Amino acid sequence: MVLELTAEQEAFRQQIEAFARDVVSLRAAGIDKSGEFPGDVMHAAAAHGLLGVTIPKAWGGAGRDYVSYALAIEAVARASATVAVSLSVTNSLVAEVIAHAGREPQRERWLRPLASGEAIGAFALSEPDAGTDAANQKTKAVKSGDGYRITGRKVWVANAEEASVAIVFARTRPGLRGLGVTAFLVPMATPGIRRTARADSLGVRGLGCMDLDLDISVGDDQVLGHVDQGFRLAMWALQGGRVAIAAQALGIGQAALDEAIAHAKRREQFGQPIANYQAIQWMLADMATELAAARMLTLKAAAAKDRQDKSACEASMAKLAASEAAHKAADKAMQILASAGYRRGSVVERLFRDVRATEIYQGTSEAQRMIIAANVLANA
Ligand SMILES: Cc1cc2nc3c(=O)[nH]c(=O)nc-3n(C[C@H](O)[C@H](O)[C@H](O)COP(=O)(O)OP(=O)(O)OC[C@H]3O[C@@H](n4cnc5c(N)ncnc54)[C@H](O)[C@@H]3O)c2cc1C
Repeated sequence: MVLELTAEQEAFRQQIEAFARDVVSLRAAGIDKSGEFPGDVMHAAAAHGLLGVTIPKAWGGAGRDYVSYALAIEAVARASATVAVSLSVTNSLVAEVIAHAGREPQRERWLRPLASGEAIGAFALSEPDAGTDAANQKTKAVKSGDGYRITGRKVWVANAEEASVAIVFARTRPGLRGLGVTAFLVPMATPGIRRTARADSLGVRGLGCMDLDLDISVGDDQVLGHVDQGFRLAMWALQGGRVAIAAQALGIGQAALDEAIAHAKRREQFGQPIANYQAIQWMLADMATELAAARMLTLKAAAAKDRQDKSACEASMAKLAASEAAHKAADKAMQILASAGYRRGSVVERLFRDVRATEIYQGTSEAQRMIIAANVLANA
């Protein structure tokens, strides 16, 4: 490991590993099959301090550091990628943003419910024409009396099916791309929010991803942070989010390695376990090495976040390395299990589908490379 864990971090990791093994893993196949949002598992996770992990205790959170958070997300993802990403959205993309930029009444209203699991959070940035180019926001917020009228369409909003609150990004000044976007804190019960299509996705099924049609009125007191500064806030949120997605990818990759090792020892061909063949051993060696390297980058990025360093580049490196290592691990696990992995309903088949999203959401691998390249060129 890149850094020595403290006794507290190690104890938390073990506690969450036990929760993931005893509770989450028993539900993983069912969540994938039904595609239903696992609200009960989220409540159980909240009881283990997995919502509001890094939120100060004064606001109802667990007050832990980012390294502990990353360790916990990896442990949960090893059991269920869906539960891990759902937790990470409420933690990194909603609660942490409110703690960071919210005014006191906004923190009072939302942080306790989000940390206790009473409220689930969603982050509504992507639009039909604003994916990688997230600054190209077409959703408009037009000043009207003591507030704004927000109209537009958001897509792929994870957790939206059950969320109580969403951070909605909307353009407040035309023509300024990222500089004219504002973040709003919007209860999902607000009249004028229509949850439209539920995404029927390849993997991370049960994430409650919805498209949202918006025609809503909000008050000035629902502006999160500063007017016209919302895009910067979104990028701040995504730095933490990417560390969590790196950890999620590691959990999926580790589960693929676990499955591959168990199968290689069990399955006999030509009179001996396939683990005796060098072809299999080298695949296992590559999987273990690439995951270990990505874990170091992930913990380094988490530690940078704890030190409040400017960590955008580290977070992007961690997400890029971990998602690609995990993708390769799932692919090699499929090769080692062969027909046993290719069968619908096998664990490796689910991991193979789940892992793919880690190279897409919270910025594609190409978007991470853009951030890393800009950083290395600027600092050359
Ligand atoms: C399961 C899932 C959950 C999601 N959850 C959320 C959520 O909760 N909230 C939210 O706001 N969004 C969410 N998203 C949306 C996600 O963030 C976007 O899908 C992602 O940012 C990519 O955007 P896009 O799909 O529109 O791809 P596009 O931007 O259309 O990209 C298509 C391809 O072009 C590449 N590309 C684009 N621009 C460039 C460039 N300049 N240089 C090189 N290559 C480029 C991309 O890397 C990609 O390979 C989710 C998506 C998924 C799949």
